[in-house]
Amino acid sequence: MFEPKRVIFEKKVIEYGLGKELFHKFKNNKNVEIMFSKSGRITGIPGSTPSEKYGEGKNTLVVGERKTLEFQSCKPSAHYQLPLVSGCMGMCEYCYLNTQMGKKPYIKIHTNLQEILNKAGEYIEKRKPEITIFEGAATSDPVPIEGYSGALEAAIKYFSKNEYSKFRFVTKYTDVDNLLNIEHNGKTMIRFSINTDEIIKVYEHRTPCLQKRLEAAYKISESGYELGFIIAPVFLCNKWENQYLQLLIKVADIFKDKKIRFEIISHRFTKRAKENIINIFPKTMLPMEEEIRKFKYGQFGYGKYVYRKDEFKRMEEFFKENIERYFKNGNIDYII
Ligand code: SF4
Repeated sequence: MFEPKRVIFEKKVIEYGLGKELFHKFKNNKNVEIMFSKSGRITGIPGSTPSEKYGEGKNTLVVGERKTLEFQSCKPSAHYQLPLVSGCMGMCEYCYLNTQMGKKPYIKIHTNLQEILNKAGEYIEKRKPEITIFEGAATSDPVPIEGYSGALEAAIKYFSKNEYSKFRFVTKYTDVDNLLNIEHNGKTMIRFSINTDEIIKVYEHRTPCLQKRLEAAYKISESGYELGFIIAPVFLCNKWENQYLQLLIKVADIFKDKKIRFEIISHRFTKRAKENIINIFPKTMLPMEEEIRKFKYGQFGYGKYVYRKDEFKRMEEFFKENIERYFKNGNIDYII
């Protein structure tokens, strides 16, 4: 569970509901610095170098309201992003949030959860009788702050009662015990983001090891949730086939008879992400040589560097073949 070094409260939220509850929870904790924001602007997080600013941001929890209630689209895994919380305590070097959350990427709990869920209800109404799928982890990993926010629990309960919706989220974290006994009615799918031990060790700082993620995933599947694994990012480095084969075999040892869905995402980066990563992690060993990648224009007008067509094809075949071989009930949602 996330243990913040400082908590910044938007002034008005400490007077009621979750904001008040969290204020009382943290105010007597000697290890936590309490700060306030009157205007909703978050200032006062220290740090002088990019790495320091990043580290201090990642140790900061903000408690406030979500102001905009327009939901962004969320391809390819869902129709809409559900903005339950934002930011993440993890420090994965490749994380796409590194270019989204500013120089001090704090973690934020939204206290107007009910308003956010009501808005989801409006989106569902508009698309009826089509099913609308919401992604709860598009700009965050909500699990390590669930003990403070209760946002996943509220969302799981909300969607369990709505026949025209589905909910899904992804995590690398293992604090899932609070989710095990919630009445989910088969409407929520939980995916665990996994990678080889080596990649977790080198790039995914402050996240649980593979074994712990698999144990948490097992508990989730035993609770009847639909379960998925996102293998991402796939790095086509030296001996990648062997390493990802070992990973699939390890997962299959535990889950071979379960119904599992897979999403596979190859490593990609933008020029801007590369600059940010090098600023924050000057010694990074992430493979980001533009010369050996293919440049692809993205849907938002900026381009990204992806693996070459022949390399990608090999990767695609590898995962199709081996998931079919080791998981009799395995389905691949997409490989990109
Ligand atoms: Fe980003 Fe996920 Fe790592 Fe958090 S756990 S830093 S959201 S990649």
